Amino acid sequence: MLSLIKPPVLSINQVPKVFHEDSIMSGYRHPRSSATDCILSVFQMTNETLNIWTHFLPTWYFLWKLVTVVLMHSAWQDSYTWPLVIYLLSVCMYPLASSCAHTFSSMSARARHICFFFDYGALSFYSLGSAITYSFYVFPDKWTNSTFHQYFIPIAVVNTIICTGLACYSRLGLPFLQYNHDIVKRFPESQSPKFSKGLRVLAFAYPYLFDNIPLFYRVFLCTGEGCTNNDTNVLHVYHIALAFLTGFLFATHLPERLAPGSFDYIGHSHQLFHVCAILGTHSQMQAIEQDMMIRKSWLLENSMPFTFGGSIGAALLCLVTNLTTIFLFSLPLLLSSRSEERKAK
Ligand SMILES: [Zn+2]
Repeated sequence: MLSLIKPPVLSINQVPKVFHEDSIMSGYRHPRSSATDCILSVFQMTNETLNIWTHFLPTWYFLWKLVTVVLMHSAWQDSYTWPLVIYLLSVCMYPLASSCAHTFSSMSARARHICFFFDYGALSFYSLGSAITYSFYVFPDKWTNSTFHQYFIPIAVVNTIICTGLACYSRLGLPFLQYNHDIVKRFPESQSPKFSKGLRVLAFAYPYLFDNIPLFYRVFLCTGEGCTNNDTNVLHVYHIALAFLTGFLFATHLPERLAPGSFDYIGHSHQLFHVCAILGTHSQMQAIEQDMMIRKSWLLENSMPFTFGGSIGAALLCLVTNLTTIFLFSLPLLLSSRSEERKAK
């Protein structure tokens, strides 16, 4: 009876190339599913099901953390908490955007691109959320108030804009110039997936590496006084190790590359990538909270003031530019006619 309401899953040869996932041979949903079908597919075993749940469930955990911090710390009256609130907001947004993108990505080729544009925008916002908390709570004593520290958040904001633009560009190229409502002129993802993937890895690795410069220095390089060598360093190391594992899984498509078709439903790299990202974020969150607590009096006395512009202002600027970028990349697709869908097949 249940099979009557569940649409059948398809093999890789039954869906257009734009929907293909590297070394995933089966478990595809219909490429023109309705929104209702997409939502129902969350309860059916497809190659996206665990991608959805591995980010949907943690969203609620992080949301609970955010609400707890806002209520317990009277966050709006205490500027010292603002960077943490922004970080937690970004930590809620990226798994939510990701689970929505994985849920609705099988509505059409256009919907798939737009869904993942939002996914990239949210990830890029998360990198700014991390940078803001690092600037206020994690920078080693030695580097506090240095020139690098003063320009850290402005550079992180610029990186965020570049990251979102580059990640969106990696799918179809430049809007209107390289693709418009019914034609894709250059390097669509399906024709040169390696180049496209490489650009995307660069788009996310670069801001991550930049944001973590103060942390890498503090944990791995700094010697002598002013290194902020406290108990939190272990948590920071966990987070860094998990972040590198996350990047490795995203870039290599292991294990499914070794045995195409064997990990279609359970255990493929994207699911593992989601899980590692969440575990890494959890360690990072614990480390940030711990640094924030144990360094509070020193930071309030010695570090830069906790300003609106340096925290909430930077986040708002990033949100506006990210949404504008997503809108510009989505516009040619939104203006699309049905013919694009026919060509995509
Ligand atoms: Zn994902």
